[in-house]
This record gives sequence, C-alpha cells and structure tokens, in this order.
Amino acid sequence: MSNLQHKPHRNTIAVENAKIIERQDFPGDQVILRVHAPEIAASAQPGQFAHIQCDPALAMRRPLSIMRVSAKNGWVDFLFKVLGEGTRLLANRKVDDLLSIMGPIGKPFETQMKHSRPLLIGGGVGIPPMVFLADSMREVKDAYQPFVIMGSEVPFPFKTQPSQIMVPGVPGDVIAAMPLMDDWGFASRLARLQDYPVCFNGYVTDLALTWLDALS
Ligand SMILES: Cc1cc2nc3c(=O)[nH]c(=O)nc-3n(C[C@H](O)[C@H](O)[C@H](O)COP(=O)(O)OP(=O)(O)OC[C@H]3O[C@@H](n4cnc5c(N)ncnc54)[C@H](O)[C@@H]3O)c2cc1C
Repeated sequence: MSNLQHKPHRNTIAVENAKIIERQDFPGDQVILRVHAPEIAASAQPGQFAHIQCDPALAMRRPLSIMRVSAKNGWVDFLFKVLGEGTRLLANRKVDDLLSIMGPIGKPFETQMKHSRPLLIGGGVGIPPMVFLADSMREVKDAYQPFVIMGSEVPFPFKTQPSQIMVPGVPGDVIAAMPLMDDWGFASRLARLQDYPVCFNGYVTDLALTWLDALS
C-alpha cells in the first residue's frame, strides 16, 4: 500500500499511514513518537501541526504540533502529554504500529530575520514548535544565534543538563538547558514555577524580561 493516501486540501495537506519507528517515554506521561511520514516531512514548516488518528476506534483526530522533521529520511517527531481519551489511546501505540496522520496544517511562523539574536519562547505544549523553529535556524546558524527559553510544570521531556553556552544577562546560577540545543550550538535556558535546581524560578516570560532588561 502506498504511504500517501490523498491530499485533501488544495494539494498541500497529505494523509499518510505512518509507521511508528521510534518511541521515547518521559516522566509526566509524556511521549515522543517518531513516525515515517515522508510527504509531511518534505513540506512541513515550523509552526504547523498535524491531525492524528490516535486509535482506529476513535474517529476524531487530535492536533499535535510538528516538533522535528527530516525531509531526507522521511520522519516526523511529535511530543505529547497524556491528557484525555485521545492522547491516552495514542500513548498505547507501539513501534511498528501505523498512525493515520493528516498534515501539515496551519500557517507557518512568519520569521522576520532582522535580528541576529531571535528569542524563542515556549512552555509545555509550546515546546515542540520552538524546537522545530530552532532546527530550521541551523541552516543559517552563522548569521543567527537564537536564545531559546522553555518552561514546564511537569518534568521536562528531555534530560536537562548544565549548558556549556553562557548567556550574558541571565543569572549565573540559571544554567539548566535542553541538550539538543547545546548540540546545535544554541543557547537555551529552562524556567519552572517550582524551585528546581539550576532552572529559572518563574514564568518563561519573567526570564525573557530579565534577559531583555539586562541587555538594554
Ligand atoms: C494546534 C495545536 C497543537 C497542539 N500541539 C500539541 C503538542 O505538540 N503536544 C501536546 O501534548 N498537545 C498539543 N496540543 C493539545 C492536544 O491537542 C490536546 O492535549 C489533545 O487534543 C487532548 O486530547 P484528548 O482526547 O487526550 O483530551 P480530551 O480532553 O478528552 O479531548 C480534547 C478535546 O477534544 C474534545 N473532544 C473529545 N472528544 C470529542 C468528541 N467526540 N466530539 C467533540 N469534541 C471532542 C474535548 O471536548 C476536548 O476539548 C495541541 C493543540 C492544538 C490545537
């Protein structure tokens, strides 16, 4: 059977029967699924999402942001937190299962790359689109050095680590970062409301203001 079924919307949205090729589980009922969906991987842009059939028995699809894609290898990553019935059923799906995925949907971010230091802020389900946006900036890494701020009130869906990248304007003891960003050479910092070692204690927007105030 062809992976691509049809393109229901102005030839830009595909519905693919996507095989789950990797699954990672994180504390706080959070899951990352990597699926083989080459049509969606080829055309998705940061800020877009997909509608996922969580289980064949559940007709209504659930929207999830696209977190990363590899157009070359044809995969798409989603990060989700179990909330209700749909995401609970999705969390039961295993490697090699097929998921019907409709996407990419939505207006991509409009990035005006006028500034060499874009500030990317995302909390909770806002994390995946910022990962995708940062990933897209790697191609222009010499020109743009984003500062990525992420927040979560459940454990972060990755193993946090002290950053190797200093950020002037951010308190020196706030060094918790997303390892992927360090790997990409991008500065990142993490914020939480509960006091948590080496994270900023407050909202993501408070950390952003602290940084911006120090710059001005
Ligand atoms: C654009 C977008 C991107 C998102 N990206 C992410 C992401 O990257 N990661 C993430 O974790 N979450 C994301 N979310 C949130 C995610 O979509 C919800 O957590 C998910 O839909 C919850 O579904 P559920 O069935 O588990 O929860 P439920 O609370 O059971 O249902 C979710 C919603 O669907 C409605 N609903 C359920 N069943 C029916 C029905 N039969 N008829 C009518 N309405 C029904 C409910 O009223 C409820 O509002 C995103 C949401 C949007 C809109």
